[in-house]
Amino acid sequence: MKRKQERARQKALGGGDNREKVVRDVQLPETIVVSELANRMAERVAEVVKALMQNGMMVSQNQVIDADTAELIIEEFGHKVVRVSDADVEQVIETADDKEEDLKPRAPVITIMGHVDHGKTSLLDAIRDAKVVAGEAGGITQHIGAYQVTTESGAVLSFLDTPGHAAFTSMRARGAQVTDIVVLVVAADDAVMPQTIEAINHAKAAGVPMIVAINKIDLPAANAQKVRTDLLQHEVIVEAMSGDVQDVEVSAHTGQGLDELLEAIALQAEVLELKANPERAAQGAVIEAQLDVGRGPVATVLVQNGTLKQGDIFVVGEQWGKVRALVNDKGERVAEAGPSVPVEVLGLNGTPEAGDVLNVVSSEAQAREIAEYRENAAKEKRAAAGAATTLEQLMQKAKDDKDVSELPIVVKADVQGSAEAIIQAMEKIGNDEVRVRVLHYGVGAITESDIGLAEASGAPVIGFNVRANAPARQAANQKGVEIRYYSVIYDLVDDVKAAASGLLSAEIQEDFIGYAQIREVFKVTGVGKVAGCLVTEGVARRSAGVRLLRDDVVIHEGTLKTLKRFKDEVSEVISGQECGMAFENYDDIREGDVIEIFTRKEVERTL
Ligand code: GDP
Repeated sequence: MKRKQERARQKALGGGDNREKVVRDVQLPETIVVSELANRMAERVAEVVKALMQNGMMVSQNQVIDADTAELIIEEFGHKVVRVSDADVEQVIETADDKEEDLKPRAPVITIMGHVDHGKTSLLDAIRDAKVVAGEAGGITQHIGAYQVTTESGAVLSFLDTPGHAAFTSMRARGAQVTDIVVLVVAADDAVMPQTIEAINHAKAAGVPMIVAINKIDLPAANAQKVRTDLLQHEVIVEAMSGDVQDVEVSAHTGQGLDELLEAIALQAEVLELKANPERAAQGAVIEAQLDVGRGPVATVLVQNGTLKQGDIFVVGEQWGKVRALVNDKGERVAEAGPSVPVEVLGLNGTPEAGDVLNVVSSEAQAREIAEYRENAAKEKRAAAGAATTLEQLMQKAKDDKDVSELPIVVKADVQGSAEAIIQAMEKIGNDEVRVRVLHYGVGAITESDIGLAEASGAPVIGFNVRANAPARQAANQKGVEIRYYSVIYDLVDDVKAAASGLLSAEIQEDFIGYAQIREVFKVTGVGKVAGCLVTEGVARRSAGVRLLRDDVVIHEGTLKTLKRFKDEVSEVISGQECGMAFENYDDIREGDVIEIFTRKEVERTL
């Protein structure tokens, strides 16, 4: 009886009889979760854990083991090891192109852009209210960052409820191009303004078609014709001016023209022939995300392809999770969300960022592995903050890469006249290989939005007699966007010309952002020497460059390994506070030395 049972068990395991064992190629990254290892070998987890124990490793199925250990086990089970690098963990994300016959029409995704106070928010609210109240009984919408409406003719449209160019561009910068159509709102009593131009340029840079909504048509001062002629100057030729950009006169207040606007959008969408495959593993983009007190991390995701279902395991940016619940824009629980549908996703392990891409994967281990890999990669990237895009690098890239034959730039100047002169000069520069393309130009300080646009397109920002404001400077430092300051057009032209021929000698100007004095030197095991300092001026910043000065002589230049305030690693310490600093790869620090902290991102050329 006992033997019989044993035989049955062996058979169930698939090992006992004389059937040939399948030898598998097992993809092995630098580290792997035990259960995933078992999964990849198609062996039982318990067997793998047992084998590990026999090798002296007491681990559970959820623990991570290193590749060398895993290799031993794989060989023990008689499979073949295929070592893959860290980045290969991303390969489990399904990227295969959809077959034509699997593609089904999907709703367009619309972003409303335009100058402040021209009525973006009012228009979004008006559209939603008009459509939802008419549609669902008692349908009270919930703000989740996006909503869907159905037009009179039955077309479904998805609106992103986060107006503003920064949102649009930062999403694009993070690799999520979600918008299919931009509605450019221009107030009829005001016409084209700086942010209108900005919006036009953002839309053009992203290659997204535009529809012009001439708003506030109810006002006595409304002059739609002036808007149309104004737009001509910015190469937006509306249909009324025999161009091909649709324009609709609307009023967010009276509701006039709203249906017409929606039909115009539907028409534009038809031309675009937007399609997606609802049958595949979902991919989407995060529109908004926050940590909700009661519900934990919540993200509004716009599904772009496939269908997101309850129970799906996914990775999103540096986070992962399992869909616990999906909530639509009406606050209702839904079981799934197909292409172009915005839903709130519950069940995340952390809060992702707007613009992060969500991908459904097949196992929790995979999701965790990818999230961990991304987190590490992002950390390394932040550490190597010097990886800024400089003019030279861009030019080199433009030359190396046959597809990129343009050097994109963003220009801000003190007056319209100089901005225009710069643009004209820039357009003349260029040879067979590279051309300069001005993505956006404007008058006034360099803003965060300029930096966003520059980052999204990998462009430097040129400031002519203007400076970047504080948030913009910070954003540029963080994102590695180069800002160049000029006060003589000739210099600027010269530099860009030189960059175009690959001859630009780097000219770096530094900004001193702070000084700190070493009060005491400690030895910390595992870290080395740590300087106990007092920041005497400005700020000490973890990501900045540092120099060690002894008697006013520079004796070392490098970066910081740590910046600590009490026990915590911090990114910044301000003047008057004490902190601990240690240099990367440098140990000869003494009491009384001065640490100079500087940034190098901004380059100034003046005559
Ligand atoms: P946003 O900054 O572009 O989001 O603009 P808002 O939607 O906040 O609108 C700015 C101001 O314009 C508000 O005071 C609105 O009440 C007003 N407004 C918006 N649309 C209309 C409209 O169609 N007609 C009139 N008369 N006022 C409008």
